[in-house]
This record gives sequence, C-alpha cells and structure tokens, in this order.
Amino acid sequence: MVPERRLREELIKFGRLCYERNLLVAMDGNLSARLPDGSILCTKAGCHKGFLDDDDLVVIDTTGRKLRGAGNPTSEMAMHLACYEERPDCQAVIHAHPPMAIAFTIANVSMARCVLPEVVLTLGTVPTVPYETTGTRNLADSLRPYVRDHDAVLMDTHGALALGTSVLEAFCRLEVVEHTALITKTARDLGGVKELDPKEAAHLRSMGLKRYGGPPNAVAKADLPHADLPHACMTCSGCANPAPTGIAPKSELRLARVNSQPMAPSPLVEAAITRAVLRSLMPSS
Ligand SMILES: [Zn+2]
Repeated sequence: MVPERRLREELIKFGRLCYERNLLVAMDGNLSARLPDGSILCTKAGCHKGFLDDDDLVVIDTTGRKLRGAGNPTSEMAMHLACYEERPDCQAVIHAHPPMAIAFTIANVSMARCVLPEVVLTLGTVPTVPYETTGTRNLADSLRPYVRDHDAVLMDTHGALALGTSVLEAFCRLEVVEHTALITKTARDLGGVKELDPKEAAHLRSMGLKRYGGPPNAVAKADLPHADLPHACMTCSGCANPAPTGIAPKSELRLARVNSQPMAPSPLVEAAITRAVLRSLMPSS
C-alpha cells in the first residue's frame, strides 16, 4: 500500500511529466490514484497538470462524491471511477490528450495493430472507444468493456486513458501509446506500415502476458492460440487488423498521384504553343 503522502507527490510529478512530454496542454487531462482506504485521490477541475501542487488534489469516494480538498473533481472522473470499478488491480489512472495518438483516431487509423514487438509484448493492442461526449456517463460506461481487457485505450477524437498498478506504470503506458503513434506515423510517411507476422504477434503477446502481467482478463487468455489478440488478427497476414481503415487513405493518395495522367493542354494553351513554334520556324527579318 502506497501512503497518501507519496501518491500526492507522484500525481504532481507525473502531471508535470505529462506536460513536459507533450501528452497534454493547458487544462487538459486528469490523474488519479487509489488510496489505501479505497477512496480516490485525483486532480481537481480546471487546473494545469504541468504545475500541480497539493491544493490541486481532492479526495473522492468511489461514487464521485468529494470527501476532502479544495475545489471540485472534474466530470471526467467518471471515466477513472469506471476503470477502478472494472479493474480491482488498477491503482492509478492517467487521462491525457497525446496529439499523435489522437490524430490516429481522427484519421480513422487503428492503433489496435501489432507493429512494434516490445509494445505487443508489454501492452498488447490499443483499441479505440467509439465517440461519446466528454465528461458524460455514456463515455464512462462505453469504456468499461475496453478497460477490462486493455491497459491503455484511445477515445475517438478525444484522448487516451492509461491504467497501472502504480502511477509510474500508467504514465509509462501512456508514453508508449504516443511513442508508438509517432513511429507508426513516421513509417506511414516513409512508405507504409509493416506489421508483425500474426503467429509471432500471438507468441509475443502470450509471453508478455505471462512475464509482465496485464489485465486479469487478458492474462487468463495467455495460453489461447492467439493470446488476447483479436481473432481478426489471426486470419490475415500483413495488415493483421482490418478495421477500421488501416493505411488505405495514405496509399490511395499516393496511388492517385502515380496513376494520374498528364492533363491535356487547353485549346488556348495549344494555340499559344502553335504560335510560338511557328514564330521560331519563321526566318527573322
Ligand atoms: Zn479529456
């Protein structure tokens, strides 16, 4: 059990790191940790997570009611409470707005894919929760089935949520999501995303769940032929996860450029060229 004093220091420290690592800006995001008595220590509404101090932290119960502290918890705490309820193993939650990962959701490019072996090993795939209005009960409820099976999820056009058995672990998972997005995006820019062979992905995931743990639901699937990876990943090679749109938009653009025929000159341009050619053929006077 980590004492409250230390959890306070950690939320302040990792709030600053989230800001310094460009995982959130301004009043974005929120951090929380489970206290030894089961209540939740969290950042209050309307404070900058890069410059937190003790007064920016409040204590709430598991229904969201404030128990201690100045200021009020944010409406986004409902998401955190859903995580703690679904995952008794979860001791800390960080919600942030990592720009590259959010851009993936806006472009409808899935991050639930097996690209980097060490990410598959330690985190598995990162699903995107369909859009719901921020701060609502609907969003908190729609997260539930996802956080049962995953330690990090994206919320469509909104942000990321990372769970951990410590604040450090939640922070690491958040960082890994954004770093993966950056590497994947760079690979797309350079020509395309090469995915792991499905068998190797399943082998890595199974090994990772046994060695490093993960959501209890996922760990229970470690010995299945595809571990906790989606069935769809095992039925094709190359792009292991066909949904949503993979790398299609980018390659279609490039294809369009390569295939485009040179445009025929307009009659006006054609007449001007003819005149210029005739002029050049005429003897100068
Ligand atoms: Zn948010």
